[in-house]
Amino acid sequence: MNGLPDLHHHLDGSLRPSTVRDLAAGLGLAVPADLAFTAGMGLEAALSRFAFTLSLLQEPAAVRRVASEIAEDAAAEGVTTLEVRFAPQFHRGASMGAIVDAALDGLSGHAGLLLCGLYGDPPSLFDDLIDVAAARPGVVGLDLAGGPLPTHRYGIPDYAEVFARARRLGLGCTVHAGEGRPAAEIAAAIERLGAQRIGHGTTLLDDERVLDLVRERGVTIEACPTSNVHTSVIGSVAEHPLPKWLAAGVKACVNPDNTLLSAVSAAEEWRRAAEIPGMTPDLLAAAAGFGHAAAFRRG
Ligand SMILES: [Zn+2]
Repeated sequence: MNGLPDLHHHLDGSLRPSTVRDLAAGLGLAVPADLAFTAGMGLEAALSRFAFTLSLLQEPAAVRRVASEIAEDAAAEGVTTLEVRFAPQFHRGASMGAIVDAALDGLSGHAGLLLCGLYGDPPSLFDDLIDVAAARPGVVGLDLAGGPLPTHRYGIPDYAEVFARARRLGLGCTVHAGEGRPAAEIAAAIERLGAQRIGHGTTLLDDERVLDLVRERGVTIEACPTSNVHTSVIGSVAEHPLPKWLAAGVKACVNPDNTLLSAVSAAEEWRRAAEIPGMTPDLLAAAAGFGHAAAFRRG
């Protein structure tokens, strides 16, 4: 395949191992032995691993370095359409705008940047992210990341207004939805938030109505098979529904999610996807085409 797309790639989960050691040494921190994800650890445990990587990335210089290395590594492995995402509010060494500028500087036009708010965050936080994005054309999209908890005060319907504002500004919208959770969440992300893309969406085939909605709206699913094994959403990459989605006319592409924490690269993720039972060269080529086509462009 010439030229791979990679649309779902978290900056704070995708440091080079050597950079982790470097940054940790510079800050006098010990690297935890259990930093990498392991199969079946679950979403909450997986999310907790970011605390350490974020502690290394508080300052703009570290954000710039990691963004630049992600773009460099992606190009070296044949990725020709790249988007990188992160939540600038967790990097407290400078203002949110300065942190975003550092990421854009590091990517230097080789990738689009998406800004993430997390499930449970107040809608005002998304407004702040959109304010930062408004003045920076290199920011191409907004993402709702993490996962909902019963204790959260805010859920998908509460973000309808801010996502509408993001769309009016020409930002692409994607939502982590149906990551092992009911398919109704995918429908809510599309109908309430206008998501053009869905991260994970592993439960899509559980509900025919949601499947129809995804096909009708031409929504692209950002599949992250290795990540889904780590978060216990699927038992093995071989069980990922990607070939079934593609055969059913769903647009979907393949993504690494977190190259450090999942110890995977985009190219390796595409190789693994090729081995999923039911996958054919034609379906795989179609998936690559869907990924390239679904990249956000600031409208
Ligand atoms: Zn993700």
